[in-house]
Amino acid sequence: MAQVDAKIETMYQEVLKRNPGETEFHQAVLEVLECLGPVVAKHPEYLERRIIERICEPERQIIFRVPWQDDKGKVNINRGFRVEFSSALGPYKGGLRFHPSVYLGIVKFLGFEQIFKNSLTGLPIGGGKGGSDFDPKGKSDDEVMRFCQSFMTELYRHLGEHTDVPAGDIGVGGREIGYMFGQYKRITNRYEPGVLTGKGLTWGGSLVRTEATGYGATFFVNEMLKARKDSFEGKTCTVSGSGNVAIYTIEKIHQLGGKCVACSDSNGVIYDEKGLDLDLIKRLKEVERRRIEDYIKTHKHAKYVAKGNIWEIPCQVAMPSATQNEINGKDAATLVKNGCIAVGEGANMPTTPEGVKVFLEAKIAYGPGKAANAGGVATSALEMQQNAGRDSWTFEYTERKLEDIMINIHNNCFETAEEYGASGNYVLGANICGFIKVANAMVAHGLI
Ligand code: NDP
Repeated sequence: MAQVDAKIETMYQEVLKRNPGETEFHQAVLEVLECLGPVVAKHPEYLERRIIERICEPERQIIFRVPWQDDKGKVNINRGFRVEFSSALGPYKGGLRFHPSVYLGIVKFLGFEQIFKNSLTGLPIGGGKGGSDFDPKGKSDDEVMRFCQSFMTELYRHLGEHTDVPAGDIGVGGREIGYMFGQYKRITNRYEPGVLTGKGLTWGGSLVRTEATGYGATFFVNEMLKARKDSFEGKTCTVSGSGNVAIYTIEKIHQLGGKCVACSDSNGVIYDEKGLDLDLIKRLKEVERRRIEDYIKTHKHAKYVAKGNIWEIPCQVAMPSATQNEINGKDAATLVKNGCIAVGEGANMPTTPEGVKVFLEAKIAYGPGKAANAGGVATSALEMQQNAGRDSWTFEYTERKLEDIMINIHNNCFETAEEYGASGNYVLGANICGFIKVANAMVAHGLI
């Protein structure tokens, strides 16, 4: 085994050398590689075919200029990215992120994780991710539209229902998908709903797609709790962020009998001991696009802490749903000390490696993003199925399918962890289970 681990370490050093400065990508790769020692020991063909080295190198990386004019007529220039990481299991699939922090290293970490997440869904989708360092915050609708049109004017040539199918992520919701779909249709003169997911319900979108990531993450935590003969009933919960994933996580927690007392945005934290008023949060964030701070204008009993740390609020279930590396080792230790028994990651890689170590050592139920937040992309794949069949499913039917998919992902991760002698370790279960399917497809496809 030591020999195998040494080989994997050499591969990781090569990744560091070939991708300098891309720290988030390094972190995502290390987390997967650390789990693969026993897998390649069982499957020497993966080493012979150099599957790990190939999987760490994206199939294609596209970087492009996005020029656009703001409302004052000033010309602005952003950078656009699409990293088409792996098509072993299907067309590249993964969201677009618009946030000032976006650079190649972030897109590659997200694209890499997406390969294994998509594999875990059991659906025929490969892995990719994209985005831009454009900041939609504070921009008018017209500015966002002009940016999206310029972005799609380059991206369209790389897309297609059998090639690459983007969706939303941070900063990209229904509004942005609409503008990009419109521009795609205009340039190509083709009404191709299968080219983007997260579309509006009257023009090819799927019911439950908006809710899917948050609902799915909550279903996943529910399964982890059930495996420990427990449930959400009466649990105090905290959910970071107040965007798409956070909102529908809070909704499903409340439906399952939990009480969510805190959420946040990048400016601060809201604490409402009576339980968050979700209708108000939806109005503030989805309709009026305001800051979470405005919650206390309506609910004077609640508290707002500017630049506060949500993980200091005692809870039994924590669901990070904002961004990467938002829980460090100290935060994780605080959560455990305060009685947290389950963590479900709605966000991608929200816990640092030190934080993950704390959760695993404490043996709490810890669901990594790759498994826990796969409900979003799974429902995107269901949207693709409906588009291909020119069909439209009911909310109840689609939600049932989502729940079944999350139960399956949970069980596969759980059983894989058992098989590899790491009972209850969903990180190992998710990484191994996601990897093996992709690796077998790559062996079958030959050296490409
Ligand atoms: P949104 O843009 O809808 O919401 C993001 C939320 O997180 C906002 O409240 C935002 O606050 C906050 N946030 C973003 N960056 C930071 C930061 N650096 N520090 C503190 N808070 C921050 O995005 P989503 O809800 O779609 O995505 C949230 C997470 O879930 C991301 O990690 C994403 O990759 C992941 N995810 C999303 C999926 C989806 O279907 N949408 C699917 C799978 C994973 P503010 O408004 O102040 O920026």
